[in-house]
Amino acid sequence: MSNDCLFCKIIAGHLPATVVYRDERVLAIRDIHPVAPTHVLLMPVRHLTSMAEAEAGDADLIGSLHLTAVMLAGREKLSRGYRLVVNTGPDGGQTVGHLHVHLIGGRAMHWPPG
Ligand code: 5GP
Ligand code: ZN
Repeated sequence: MSNDCLFCKIIAGHLPATVVYRDERVLAIRDIHPVAPTHVLLMPVRHLTSMAEAEAGDADLIGSLHLTAVMLAGREKLSRGYRLVVNTGPDGGQTVGHLHVHLIGGRAMHWPPG
């Protein structure tokens, strides 16, 4: 756990969140400022700052984050599709320094993203 990390505090239960899924390695919560009818954040339980810090040994974890997102998309009935987004670093639009996958759906998305 990183003491100054918002998501580590949520994972530890020190800050509240709406949890939609949890296992030993992955936590999924509803985004506090949803940009679509479904907006879930999936994060590793172990602190990892971003994709830029991921290593070969994190491959399973990163796969689990994405496959859990697909499972939750099914639960959320996103049969028309959805978007998985991993903002990375300042130019990538990352605002919380704990790796997370956005699962966004329930409306049509635009391309290119802003
Ligand atoms: P990023 O910009 O780093 O890709 O995504 C961070 C996301 O975390 C944003 O969509 C933001 O709304 C969400 N967020 C920020 N603070 C909180 C919080 O305290 N609780 C929850 N559930 N989401 C948060
Ligand atoms: Zn963290």
